Amino acid sequence: MESRDSPPVAASPDPRWLADEMLGRLARYLRFLGYDTSYAQDLRDLEILHKAREEGRTLLTRDRQLAMRAKASVLLRSLDLEGQLRELRRAYPALRGEVRFLRCSLCNALLASADRSSPVPPRGVPEPLWGSSEPVYVCPSCGQAYWEGSHTREIRATLERVFRPGAGARGTPP
Ligand SMILES: [Zn+2]
Repeated sequence: MESRDSPPVAASPDPRWLADEMLGRLARYLRFLGYDTSYAQDLRDLEILHKAREEGRTLLTRDRQLAMRAKASVLLRSLDLEGQLRELRRAYPALRGEVRFLRCSLCNALLASADRSSPVPPRGVPEPLWGSSEPVYVCPSCGQAYWEGSHTREIRATLERVFRPGAGARGTPP
């Protein structure tokens, strides 16, 4: 390989994704990974393409025609979440695999640390957890609260299967 003077690749910003209607679960996972991910619900093809272009997003879709019409897209074939994450990782090897409490998995808004001065926990947060020093995050847009718990363990287990060294590096059977 030839080496030339070029800006460091590590400085490249995170991609922003637009998941089409069939990829809602993948969109939620990408938000758990901290990626700015829009979900194209109830949008027609032209609106999806317009949104991707306007917002500089890479379209994630299982629709070949749609993928070909987008300026930037990743065509996914798998029907299940883990397969889709593996395919995305092959297309975009820099994909991170760690959960970050950065974005709301439901609406994509940036999360904020919960206001611990209130004795009343945010909706859905168990009292004992609120009394502990466990970090709690709240979505300022939809009110969803996030903390380390059984559901994050499940998400981490899924990510571990997809991102463990060697996983997805080779092709999966068709
Ligand atoms: Zn939200």
